[in-house]
Amino acid sequence: MFNDFSLSPALLKAVATLGYSEPTPIQERAIPVVLQGRDLMAAAQTGTGKTAAFALPLLERLLQNPAHQRSPRALILVPTRELAAQVSDACRVLAHDLPIRGVLIYGGVSARPQLDSLARGVDLVIATPGRLLDHLQSRAVDLSKIEILVLDEADRMLDMGFIRAIRRIIAALPVQRQSLMFSATFSEEIRILARSLLRNPVTIDVSPRNRPPELVDHSVYHVDASAKHPLLTRLIVDGDVRQTLVFTRTKHGANRLAERLVRDGLSCAAIHGNKSQGARTRALDDFKQGRVRVLVATDIAARGLDITELPHVVNFELPHVPEDYVHRIGRTGRAGLRGQAVSLVSRDERERLRAIEKLLGRPIPVAA
Ligand code: AMP
Repeated sequence: MFNDFSLSPALLKAVATLGYSEPTPIQERAIPVVLQGRDLMAAAQTGTGKTAAFALPLLERLLQNPAHQRSPRALILVPTRELAAQVSDACRVLAHDLPIRGVLIYGGVSARPQLDSLARGVDLVIATPGRLLDHLQSRAVDLSKIEILVLDEADRMLDMGFIRAIRRIIAALPVQRQSLMFSATFSEEIRILARSLLRNPVTIDVSPRNRPPELVDHSVYHVDASAKHPLLTRLIVDGDVRQTLVFTRTKHGANRLAERLVRDGLSCAAIHGNKSQGARTRALDDFKQGRVRVLVATDIAARGLDITELPHVVNFELPHVPEDYVHRIGRTGRAGLRGQAVSLVSRDERERLRAIEKLLGRPIPVAA
């Protein structure tokens, strides 16, 4: 029960408004630890409820210990703009009745509104590392009063090459602070970062390493590379699939496939790192609202997407990194719904398939 945590009535009310009746396992375990002021290292994927697991106790701590002046007291670092927007939305709902102001900072958009918010004064900063570092270097943001740091999807931040930016940002924080780190996987690199960042952390692992969501049916089609596109169209049309998230390895591949699917008469959009933030937000919104039936995405663009009730994920190409398979299908089979993860595997990808099966600890059934 959320009522069992020592959370303020305003936060409990926000939780009720969101319709959360029971805490998820990560929330059950992380909230008391964070409320106590301990550092935390948590293995949790998107879809586990990890955002509220850190946002609720973080807001509670800001509330309990009000500051006299307005300079940032909590910093949430995330790898992508999409995740930043999602975390910010969640915090906005949870902090609705609280005297806490936040700012969302990411690149690819004008810095002006961010600078204006910072100048007016904020308590909470939610940011991607690159743009935050810009603001730090131009002295538009002062991080010397940060009490709580959250690194969300730390593994992906490292994959995206943010380690230097992260280290420079951390160097600007007070040594005396509470630090929380969330990561889908605990690689050696992550452990090294954790050791340098966290003090005597409590470790929570709600998603044993590399275990994919339970409620997903996996299948593989062995198919020539040139036959993938017609097969995909057939699977969507014949299977009467309402919504599909399709992964390609490259931005170029995502664009090309989206164009071909449109020519097949399917409503389709593509998201990847080359698209403007506006275009990505629009595509995601169209997909979420059901205006677009197929969303083609690259791994990085899709990271952290919160699409509820997504029944169908297709790997048009297998990822290079086996762990990305687990991240990809983490978008389906959520909220107790059964999902399908279909992989179209050409001859040159057999090795990658074997690596994924090794990671999963079992073979993926062959559909054709
Ligand atoms: P996250 O892992 O933080 O991205 O959350 C995944 C989804 O679960 C989001 O849509 C949340 O709104 C939802 N969620 C988080 N906590 C709960 C809860 N205790 N009960 C029901 N849904 C939740």
